Amino acid sequence: MKAEIISVGTEIILGSTLNTNTHYITQQLSEIGIDVLFHTSVGDDPNILKDVIKIGLKRADLLIFTGGLGPTADDMTKEIVSETLGIKLELNPAVENGIKEYFYKINRPMSSNNTKQAYIPKGSKFLVNEIGTAPGIYIEWNKKILILLPGPPREMELMFHNQVMPLIKQNSIIKIKTINTIGIGESTLEMALKDLIEEKENPTIATYAKEGSVDIKIIGKGKNQEKVNALLEETVKKIDSRISQYIYSYNDEAIEEVLYKKLKEKNMKIAFCESCTGGLITNRFTQIPGISEVLDRGIITYSNKSKIEELGVNKETLDRHGAVSKQTALEMATGLLNKTGVDIALSTTGIAGPSGGSKEKPIGLVFIGIATENNSYAIECTLSGNRISIQNKATSKAFDELRRIL
Ligand code: ATP
Repeated sequence: MKAEIISVGTEIILGSTLNTNTHYITQQLSEIGIDVLFHTSVGDDPNILKDVIKIGLKRADLLIFTGGLGPTADDMTKEIVSETLGIKLELNPAVENGIKEYFYKINRPMSSNNTKQAYIPKGSKFLVNEIGTAPGIYIEWNKKILILLPGPPREMELMFHNQVMPLIKQNSIIKIKTINTIGIGESTLEMALKDLIEEKENPTIATYAKEGSVDIKIIGKGKNQEKVNALLEETVKKIDSRISQYIYSYNDEAIEEVLYKKLKEKNMKIAFCESCTGGLITNRFTQIPGISEVLDRGIITYSNKSKIEELGVNKETLDRHGAVSKQTALEMATGLLNKTGVDIALSTTGIAGPSGGSKEKPIGLVFIGIATENNSYAIECTLSGNRISIQNKATSKAFDELRRIL
């Protein structure tokens, strides 16, 4: 199904209101595999709006309008849509009662022009506005669907989530499977799945890059639940056979959640000593409820002094190799392991920029140390981006390394 989103309102095209409605609706529709092909914004001008509707009807199957459903004269979306489709507006008593009740609830008199909002195109369905007066409207016309929604984002989003999504989904079953990967870049991943992504119309496959990880969304559609499930399963198997070493979850989970479960299952405790990530790794871990069962501590050891005092790093190591070095990362992790008695200790040290880089040690150079009872090592990573991005990517690298050893 091809969709177009039409935002109505002079304030949108003047730039005084940021068009968040289009952004929200596009995200929601793409989540269920509907292709949004066009975004159109139009001022409160009846003739231009009419042209926009005619163009939309030619190129899309689903037209979603927001704005211009209010009681004032310049609110005209419903009137112009009805006129263009050749459908009469008629007073809907249920909508009228709803508006009356709304005014009664907020203890304000209903103005006479609010009655205008109780008229809906003949044969259409109205969508209840739980927090405002303008009802939404759902029209099926010549195999096209036109949905009119109020402009205020809170009203629109509530109506979209509670009423529009179920209506759009009613004609077919749509199921989404999200596979989470780490340790592989989006372009490499896309290359590995290129033929599947290009060939497949159902299910569709798309990749979504986050900082340091990439999600794969598989969206299957059909009339029959079992068939859709089978389609998804078959695609998951194909993806798995190509990139299984990078997949950390088949259930749309955060990497720290998966690590928490693994640590818990193995009855292991972990501790972190962070330099360039400044507590980010520990912070991400502590967002998981119940993490105290596996997390012993996180220490931010930023200065050389703290690395010596808190972790027992040798001064000679720091003098000889520098704070950002494989040797320091390793001594940080082993020092923390000895001090705390945990099962796994992890360290980070690196140059997040924007200053502090050199030819030998450029910005983005990060070392991650891992220490366990039987095995201690440090890895070197070269990361790109600004300071925040390097910190986020270093955190993902650390999580990926933990995933591998767990
Ligand atoms: P109302 O019942 O409030 O009159 P309406 O459907 O007529 O609703 P508008 O008058 O067009 O909606 O807009 C109401 C509010 O919603 C305004 O503050 C407007 O800036 C905001 N709004 C309208 N369209 C959008 C949009 N696309 N994105 C974000 N905000 C929007």
